Amino acid sequence: MLEVDLKERLVNIRERIKAAAGRAGREASEIKLIAVSKNHSIDKILALKKLGINLFGESRVQELREKNERLTGITWHFIGHLQRNKVKYLMRMENCQLIHSLDSWRLAREINKWARKNKRVMPVLLEVNVSGDENKFGLKPEDTLAFVEETQSLKFVDLQGLMTIAPYVKDPEEVRPCFRQLVELREEIAAKGYQLKELSMGMTNDFEVAIEEGATMVRIGTGLFGKRDE
Ligand SMILES: *Cc1c(COP(=O)(O)O)cnc(C)c1O
Repeated sequence: MLEVDLKERLVNIRERIKAAAGRAGREASEIKLIAVSKNHSIDKILALKKLGINLFGESRVQELREKNERLTGITWHFIGHLQRNKVKYLMRMENCQLIHSLDSWRLAREINKWARKNKRVMPVLLEVNVSGDENKFGLKPEDTLAFVEETQSLKFVDLQGLMTIAPYVKDPEEVRPCFRQLVELREEIAAKGYQLKELSMGMTNDFEVAIEEGATMVRIGTGLFGKRDE
């Protein structure tokens, strides 16, 4: 049965978060679990909500809007590549509370503009392409500090941290250096006077390693919802 499976997976993920946190001398409560519901049905979202999850991540604006119209009491994070012409829709959704994927100055300006119009200050994370993968979005690590400095001039954008997507590999140990690089980047930025508290890193395949390295948010889809057609 669907709900039984969801519950089992949720318990499993929570236990693994706790164990990974423990290995790093951290508390599980320091790590926010974002249930990535892209491609998954409203019914599954509702079932997870019943189990106490109310923070969900979506990566397409249209899908997010459609789901949001049919659900209440949910907080959304936007985690996908964001096109500038879609920013206005996100800014109108009060319950969309974090954009993980700020990756260009033009996008930052657009978010600032629409946040101001909607009388809000929008929390964002900078997506950094630490692996240097050409197929991935994100700032180059070496451009990140300058971007952080520039962002200070945007009054309606609240920069809270960094995000990265590690390459998919069989053995997640292989991507530990990616996560470590994001942590080091945050330290370099802190040394210049900008404290960024959030590190969004880790997905189903690699969240335990990410937590050991310092993730404050993990984005988990398959590990919670199962495969898309299940
Ligand atoms: C889909 C997605 C996830 C979740 O991936 P899983 O491997 O299913 O856990 C996390 N982050 C981003 C940016 C995604 O697009």
